[in-house]
Amino acid sequence: MKLTILPVENLPLIHAGDDLPALIAERVTLEDGDIVSVASSVYSKAKGHTRKLADITPTPRAQRISKMTGEDPRFLQSILDVSEDVLIEFPFILSEVAGGHIGVRAGVDQSNIEDEMVILLPPDPMMAANEVRSSLKKITGKDIGVIITDTCGRAFRRGQTGNAIGWSGMPAIRDFRGDKDLFGHVLKITEEAVVDELAGIANFVMGESNNGVPAVVIKGCERWTGHDDLYFTKKEDFIRRALSVRVKPKKE
Ligand code: GDP
Ligand code: MN
Ligand code: MN
Repeated sequence: MKLTILPVENLPLIHAGDDLPALIAERVTLEDGDIVSVASSVYSKAKGHTRKLADITPTPRAQRISKMTGEDPRFLQSILDVSEDVLIEFPFILSEVAGGHIGVRAGVDQSNIEDEMVILLPPDPMMAANEVRSSLKKITGKDIGVIITDTCGRAFRRGQTGNAIGWSGMPAIRDFRGDKDLFGHVLKITEEAVVDELAGIANFVMGESNNGVPAVVIKGCERWTGHDDLYFTKKEDFIRRALSVRVKPKKE
C-alpha cells in the first residue's frame, strides 16, 4: 500500500456558520476512496460548539477541583458539563464524554480560539463524521471516508497522538482474528484500530499550535473489514475499573 497524505492548506480561521466541507473541497481534488481527516477543534468552531468562560458559573465541585489543579473553575465547569463519567479529578480531569470517548479534560481546548473561550468536542462525533462525509459527497459526487480527530494524551506513555473520535465510511477496527500468521498460527486477539492509526498520521501532518492545517487528505488507503466497537464496554475495561477502585472521585 502506498499512502499519500496531503495537508489542506490556506484554510481561513474558522468561525460558527462556516461551511467546512465546502472550504475543504475548494482547496483539494478529492477522489473516490480518499479519506479526509478533520480536526475536531475546527469542526466544533464551525458548528459553534464553543463557550465563553464569562458565561459559565462554576459549581462547588469545579471550585473544589480548582483548588487542587489551580485551573480556572469556569474552565473546569465547562469540562464537567460535558462529562458523562468522571474517572479522575486530579492531577487533571479524565472523563468520558457522549459517545464513549474518554479524554483528558474531556477534550476541551483553550488553544486555537480567542482568549477567554473554550472549544468543546463535537457532541456527537460519529454524526459529525457522517455529516462531513455526506456534504463532501454532495459537493464532489465522490465517496470519501471521514475521520474526526483530536490530539489526545494516553496512558503509560509520554506524548500526545491523534485519535479518531468520529469516523464514517470505514470500520474503526480491522479484525485479524481468525487470520493465520506466517507460521499458520491462528490469530486470536489482534484487532487493529486503523482509524486511530490514520488519525495519528493525519494529526502529525496537521501539526499543533499555529500550523494552520486543520484537515488532511489521505490517498491510496486500501480498505479493511472489521467492526466499530472501538470503545471497551465498562464491563470489559478492567483498567478503568482498577482506576475507579483507587481514585474514585468524591461525590458532591
Ligand atoms: P485538535 O487537535 O482538534 O484539538 O486541534 P488543534 O488545535 O491541535 O489544531 C489542529 C490544526 O489545525 C493545527 O495545525 C492548528 O493550527 C489548526 N487550526 C486550528 N484552528 C484553525 C482554524 O480556525 N483555521 C485554520 N486554518 N487552522 C486551524
Ligand atoms: Mn483538541
Ligand atoms: Mn491537535
